[in-house]
This record gives sequence, C-alpha cells and structure tokens, in this order.
Amino acid sequence: MNFTGNSQEMENSELKVHTTELCKKRIAKNRSKPLLDLNEPRWGRLWKARAHPRVINYVWRVLNNSLPTRLNLQKRGVNCIALCPRCWKKKETEHHLLKECEFARCFWFHSQLGIRTSDFLDLDIRKWIEELLDKLDMDLQGLLCTSILHLWVARNEVLHEEVDRSPMEVADRAMKNFKEYQKALTVIEDVIHPPPLGSQSVEFWRRPPTHKLKINVDASCIDEETVGIGAVARDSEGTILMSGMWKVNLSIKSHEAEALACLMGLERARKCCFFDIIVKSDNIEVIQSLREKRIQSNYLSIFIVDCLHLIPSFRSVEFSHVKRNGNRITHELANMALTTPNTMWMEEAPQNICNMAWLERLGPIHE
Ligand SMILES: [Zn+2]
Repeated sequence: MNFTGNSQEMENSELKVHTTELCKKRIAKNRSKPLLDLNEPRWGRLWKARAHPRVINYVWRVLNNSLPTRLNLQKRGVNCIALCPRCWKKKETEHHLLKECEFARCFWFHSQLGIRTSDFLDLDIRKWIEELLDKLDMDLQGLLCTSILHLWVARNEVLHEEVDRSPMEVADRAMKNFKEYQKALTVIEDVIHPPPLGSQSVEFWRRPPTHKLKINVDASCIDEETVGIGAVARDSEGTILMSGMWKVNLSIKSHEAEALACLMGLERARKCCFFDIIVKSDNIEVIQSLREKRIQSNYLSIFIVDCLHLIPSFRSVEFSHVKRNGNRITHELANMALTTPNTMWMEEAPQNICNMAWLERLGPIHE
C-alpha cells in the first residue's frame, strides 16, 4: 500500500466491506456482547459525570471497545489499513488514539486537566479512564468525557475532511463545548432545585398565552461607549421565532441601555409582523415608565417616547418585568454582541442559546 497516495483514493480502496456471511456473523457477535456490565457500581461515576448524554454514551462505547477505529474495522472484515491515520506508527486502537499517539499526549498535556499520559502508558484504556473518573469530581469527569469525544471528532476531521487541527485547538474546543453544556445545566438545575423562598429572588421563563409572543430583551454595557443588546421572541410552545444581538456605540447608563433594548425589541417585532406581544425587561424603572407612559425630561425618556410611538404598530402590546434569572438567554445574547454584533436569526438562534431555551422549557414553571 502506498502511504503517500491521495488520501481520498486510499479511503475508497480501504473501505471495501466484505459482505460475506462470515463477516456479518462476526459483526453481530461483536455487537451483541458488551465488554462491561452497564450496572456495575464502578461505572456509576460515568453516568453521573456532568457531560451531555451523547458524550457519556460515546465514552461508554470506548470502554466497550466498540468505536470504529481502524483496527476494529479490520477485525470486522473491512478492508482497511489498521495503522493510526495521524502518525502511521502503530495500530489504531482506542488505547493508541486516545492516549498513546503523540497527538493525544500533547492534547492531554494542554487540556485543563493537564494529564501527562507518559506516566500511565502501561495502563489499559479502560483502567485509565476508570482511575481518572475515580480521582476527578463530577465537573472534571464531564470535561474528561467531553475531551475524549473531541479527540475522536478531531481524528474524523483528519480522516474525512482533511482538516488537521493542533492539539491545543482541539483542547480549547473541548473546553468551550464543556463550558457551554455546564452553563445550560446550571439553568435547569436552578429550575429543578430553586433556592428556598426569600433566600433569592428567582423567576424563570413562563409561557405566554397561545396567541401571544413573548419578547425578552436585555442590555449589557460592555464598556463606557459600547452597549450590547439581545432579544429573543418565543411562542407559547417555547419555540424561538426570532433572536438577535446588536452592538451599539453609545455612552449611556445601564437603565437607558435597557430602554434602548426595549426599543430595539419592539422594532424587530414590528419588522417580523408580530401582532400580539409581551415585552419583558429586567429593569423595573423602564417597565414602569412604559406602562405608565411616564415621560420626563431625561435621556431615558428619548427611548421611552420612541417605544410608545411603536405601540400602534401592534394589535396588542404589554410591558412586563422579569427578574434577572428569568432573562438569562437575552443577557447571554447581549454579551455575545461584542464578538458577533448585529446578527438576527428567524426561527433560529446560536447553539448555546437554543440549548438554554430548550432546558428552560423543561422547567416545571410553564403553566
Ligand atoms: Zn498515532
């Protein structure tokens, strides 16, 4: 086999599946017998790790030696080279791919977990993961599992997309993905286990009446001259109909920025032809001014007047106060406006916002 040949050609020639009855039986045999007992207490730590269920499921496949590594594919009758597609030095087993390969070693060293795999090279991959799960707390167990998945994703990128990221880049991506999930998890945990009454004022997203849309808005003063604005419109099913974030260069105070957020939310709702809306802001002063149509001779009133002018564009408009914990999604969007300004989505939102919205919908306070 010519290792220096065109990789696409190599792929095509390698992945010829022998569909003989013998191979089919072999595959069926491999699948029907998991190596590990799912209910074994020592694996309980894996199921409790704070990582996405898809991540946990993937690590479970690693532990059961059922990843389609090149060696496993060869064992199952696929005509392919068993060598690691990164270093071409050793057979691609889970042990090599996730721990022994130079790329994996560098990845673990640069990961927040700071693991030196050279200290554990003799340990079998299952034993290694088991020992790490034992040592780490639930959060770091989640990072460990997410990191393992990202090593596999990066390997597939090399193989199928010819994208070769550095170990540091893959480690950063794993960390980012882990943090996003942690953030989404915090929202749902707060919903399931709210703090005792009186200890903290908490309010979560409640569904609007069926014919109305709820538009949450928020502002974040990024620095003295820059304001980030976020807005999300959801229907009674919690489906996102519009989301957006905008960066505005204005030197204004935080309550004025909140009024500007209401104005921008109203403007976008009008452009989207929404008829019956409830605008939610976490600034009580702004909401009271809008409800009472209170106009004073200050900067805030400029935005309030503009908001009031937009009211006839709708069939019905309500202004309602939401506590900060109920306005996390738009707060996140307002902060994101710094890096991705002036972006609006119809019936869509960035992935982390979708995750947060999805988790909020699972909460019990949605009558
Ligand atoms: Zn390798």
